Amino acid sequence: MDFDTRLPEMTALLQELVEIESPSHDKAAVDRMAERVAEECRQRGAQVELVPETAAGNQVIARWRPARRPDPQKSRPILLLGHMDTVFPLGTLAKMPFSEQDGKIYGPGVSDMKGGIVVALTALAALHASGGPSRPVTALFTPDEESGSRVSRPLIEELARQAALVLVLEPGLPDGAVKTWRKGVGEFTVRVHGRAAHAGGDHEHGRNAIEEMAHQVLAIQRLTDYERGTTLNVGLIRGGTASNVVPDEAVAEVDLRVMQPGEAERIAAALFALRPALDGTRLEVTGELNRPPMPFDERMKTTFEKVKAIAAGAGIELKAGGTGGGSDANFVAPLGIPVLDGLGPAGEGYHSEREYIFANSLVERAKLLAAILEAWE
Ligand SMILES: [Zn+2]
Repeated sequence: MDFDTRLPEMTALLQELVEIESPSHDKAAVDRMAERVAEECRQRGAQVELVPETAAGNQVIARWRPARRPDPQKSRPILLLGHMDTVFPLGTLAKMPFSEQDGKIYGPGVSDMKGGIVVALTALAALHASGGPSRPVTALFTPDEESGSRVSRPLIEELARQAALVLVLEPGLPDGAVKTWRKGVGEFTVRVHGRAAHAGGDHEHGRNAIEEMAHQVLAIQRLTDYERGTTLNVGLIRGGTASNVVPDEAVAEVDLRVMQPGEAERIAAALFALRPALDGTRLEVTGELNRPPMPFDERMKTTFEKVKAIAAGAGIELKAGGTGGGSDANFVAPLGIPVLDGLGPAGEGYHSEREYIFANSLVERAKLLAAILEAWE
C-alpha cells in the first residue's frame, strides 16, 4: 500500500473537515461533522450507524467487515476511537484559517483531532481498496470528548469491551511518540458559606467567606505530591459582591491529576474531610474523578512492544511517551483491554492558536495504522 502519494488528498480532506467547525457545545455544528464523517466512512466501504443524541452531537459507528473469514485470533474487532468536536467556537476560522507553511499544517482542530480522523479514513480507504481488512474494524466517532465525554462514555466502554485492541486517534507527541500513559483527571468544587454584614457598621458579626477560602486554598494546594504524580490546582475562584460587604459566599474550582491507582480515592477523601478554619463558616465539597488514570503498566508495556515491532516492520521507529492530559483512552485502560493512544499525526499547540501538525506525519501515521490493523494478533 502506497501512502506517500496520498498526501494531497489527505491534506484536502483535512481542510474540509477543519472548515466544518464543530465546537463541543454546538449540537448542530457537531451533527454536520457527524454527517460528513459518516459519508466518508460509507465511501470507504463501511456499514455506518448514526446514533442520535440530544445532549450532544450525534455519534457515528462505522464497521468494516473483513474480506475473508478472519483467522481465529483475528476474529475480534480492533476499535478506533476519534472525537469530532473541538474546543474552538464557531468563527475561529476567520482569525485562524487552515494554512500550510514549511511542512506544517495549521488550523483549529488540525491536530486535536481532525488529523487523526483523516489518518483513520486513509488507512481504511487503502485496506478497502485492497479488498478489505483482514479482520473486523470498528470506528467510533464521538461528539463530546472536549467537554468530558459524558454522553459518549457508555458507548465507548461497550464497544471497547468487544475489542481485541483499542487505538485512540489523539495527536502524537511532537517527536512522533505515541501516548502510553495519561493521568487521571478530576474536577472538584469547594463552596464556602459565611455570613454577610456591612463592612463598616457590622464587621464583627460577619463571617468572611473569602478569608475562609484562603485557608482552604492553601490546604488544597498542599495535597500536591509530585513524587506520586499527583497535582491539585485551584484554577478558578470567585466570591463576594462589593468591597464594603463581608462576603457570605466564595467558590473555588479545583483540577486534580493522578498517575497512580488509589491516589484519586486518597485525595477525594482528603477534600471531603476539609473543615473550616473560622468559626461560623461552613464548607460544601462536590466533585469526582472524571477520567481514571492510564498507567504505563505491564499490559501497556506489552501492547507498546507489539505495536513497536509492527511499526519496525513497516520501516517506522516508534517511541513511547505520555501526558498529564486525559482522553477517552482513560476509560478503556481500566477495562483491561489493550489500548494505545496518540495514533494521530505528530503535532503541538493544541487548544491554542498555534495548533499544528507535521504534514508528512499524516502519511506516516496512515501507514502505521494500516500496518497495525493488518498485523495485530
Ligand atoms: Zn482530543
